[in-house]
Amino acid sequence: MNDCLFCGIIDGKVKGDIVYQDDSVVAFKDIGPKAPVHLLIIPRKHIATLLDLEPGDDALIGEIFRVAAKLAQEHGIAKNGFRVVVNSGADAGQTVFHLHYHLLGGRHLGWPPG
Ligand code: AMP
Ligand code: ZN
Repeated sequence: MNDCLFCGIIDGKVKGDIVYQDDSVVAFKDIGPKAPVHLLIIPRKHIATLLDLEPGDDALIGEIFRVAAKLAQEHGIAKNGFRVVVNSGADAGQTVFHLHYHLLGGRHLGWPPG
């Protein structure tokens, strides 16, 4: 997907502050952080939204959550707590249509979200 912002970050065509990458997952700092720690964890494979997941993606999603746990530990938010969020569609405020998991922490996070 040439016109996808996050594919551009994966390919190095768009500058991203990458904190983790492996064969299937990339994580980078959110450009507009909503908490002291705000990372985005994405599959290298272009998947537009949660609704586009296929059964073959199950292992990939499991890996994303394991990366989230590892990054929470590394960024010092595991002990006090953190949140992993996927926004899907207009009501949830999704603005980038490459599946991404927000990892947020470093302050008290209100519930329910706005
Ligand atoms: P969402 O609203 O769930 O689609 O989240 C998209 C996120 O991408 C927002 O939190 C933005 O701040 C973030 N974002 C947009 N452009 C960039 C970029 N170039 N580098 C890093 N994060 C970005
Ligand atoms: Zn993409």
